[in-house]
Amino acid sequence: MTKEICKTCNQEFEIRDADMIFYEQMKTAPPLYCSDCRMARRLVFRNERTLYKRQCDLCRKDIITVYSPESDFQVYCHDCWWSDGWDPKSFGVDYDRTKTFFEQYKELQKKVPRQSMAAVNNVRSDYTNGSAENKDCYMIFAADYNEDCMYSRLLQRDKFCVDCAFLHESELCYECLDSRKCFKCMFCEQCQSSSDLLFCYNMRDSSNCIFCTNGRHLTNAIFNVKYEKEEYEKKKAEILKNYESIEKAKKEFERLKEKTIRKFASQNKCNNVTGDYLYNCHQGVLLYDTYDAKNCSYMTDTESPIDSWDCNNYYYKSQFGYNIMGALEGSQLKNSAFVFYCSGVEYCENCHHLVNGLGCNAIRKGECMILNKTYSKEEYFKLKEKIEVELKQNSVFGQYFPANLAPFCYNETLAHDYFPLTKEESLKRGFRWQEKTTGTYGLETLKEIPSSIFDISEDILKEIFVCEECKKNFRITQAELSFYKRMNLPLPHKDFECRHKEREWQNEILVSSGTENA
Ligand SMILES: [Zn+2]
Ligand SMILES: [Zn+2]
Ligand SMILES: [Zn+2]
Repeated sequence: MTKEICKTCNQEFEIRDADMIFYEQMKTAPPLYCSDCRMARRLVFRNERTLYKRQCDLCRKDIITVYSPESDFQVYCHDCWWSDGWDPKSFGVDYDRTKTFFEQYKELQKKVPRQSMAAVNNVRSDYTNGSAENKDCYMIFAADYNEDCMYSRLLQRDKFCVDCAFLHESELCYECLDSRKCFKCMFCEQCQSSSDLLFCYNMRDSSNCIFCTNGRHLTNAIFNVKYEKEEYEKKKAEILKNYESIEKAKKEFERLKEKTIRKFASQNKCNNVTGDYLYNCHQGVLLYDTYDAKNCSYMTDTESPIDSWDCNNYYYKSQFGYNIMGALEGSQLKNSAFVFYCSGVEYCENCHHLVNGLGCNAIRKGECMILNKTYSKEEYFKLKEKIEVELKQNSVFGQYFPANLAPFCYNETLAHDYFPLTKEESLKRGFRWQEKTTGTYGLETLKEIPSSIFDISEDILKEIFVCEECKKNFRITQAELSFYKRMNLPLPHKDFECRHKEREWQNEILVSSGTENA
């Protein structure tokens, strides 16, 4: 093990022997940055929720996109980007020895059209990003195979869920966190295979419980004590009466969680790993929100990764990946963002089915390509070697894309969610900063949001609300209103972003209190 000083934050960090073995195996250099700074650099490639309206640069249609109208990229709508109306390979250039590789990549990056959002095979779900195979969803992010879900992130195979995060295979849930196979649960955390839970924590195979924790096969219980069905229903109605009664219950739940015995970390079927929110993980350090991992370290939001280090949003049995932001089914991937079904790629962005690629952007199918130009196998490896010499000379070999190649401003991305920085600090680190905020202020038509859902008519859909936290305007959609009515829930008094922050903050607290106990 060696100790190094991070070139970004000047904090000391460790490079373990297991890390060194991995870097050697991957034929790459040890990192110059600590694991947090490595992750931040990857995350500035991921603008998940800052959406803008602008025009498609090909068909001129109005689109929803993650690129602000001021950003100098070419942005195409989903259909145009995937059409044969343009050819990513036509942007191919020769490697020029008089400029650095990254300068040349930056020029390419500006010319090659970018996809308005990362959204694949969604139906009637325009406002979803980092998403695939969703139907009738709105404002859900990093979410796949969902139906009728809204205002959530990290959803997998859910139906009719609203304001949730890290939720799998659940239905009719509201404000649930880190839960699986739940039905009609609200305001719950870390629950599994349960139904009709309200303000519950870490329950399994339970139903009809309120304010219960760590329960197994528990039914009709309040504060883990059994009640008659009538008594239980009375309590439930009392809590769900209106906005104020729910807010009161939220505080009660916070107090309850503070008193509750919790595992030092949420790990199931894991061995020899450190991290939190893990399931079936074997061998590795600093894993978060990861399932079925084998020999992986420094990973967040990944599923079934094998022999990989430093990856985010990395799915479908990808293996031998290092420093990856977004991958599906890949192998031998290094320092890349959003590479799908690729192998042997480095410094590539938004590429699909690319085998052996260096500095490529938006390739949809290709082999042996450098800066979007195709070479013979022999030429490819020769030129790649030359470029690696240049990268080594400039002491950047093996490191992620430099900060100035990030396609987004720091505060538009998940980097700012996980590692918030001031404007000054992010500029100092080479990132850009977004000054303009989206949305409107002061246009509200309704100052007081009704506190109960009863007697609310469809007319409410015409009203413009104001968030009680940040004062931004927001509206209620038809689908949203139907959901609240169906679940007997009052309308929210905060906009999506403030609700999201509140939820993530809750999650943070859970993670940090877990560490303390360890
Ligand atoms: Zn650092
Ligand atoms: Zn278009
Ligand atoms: Zn707000």
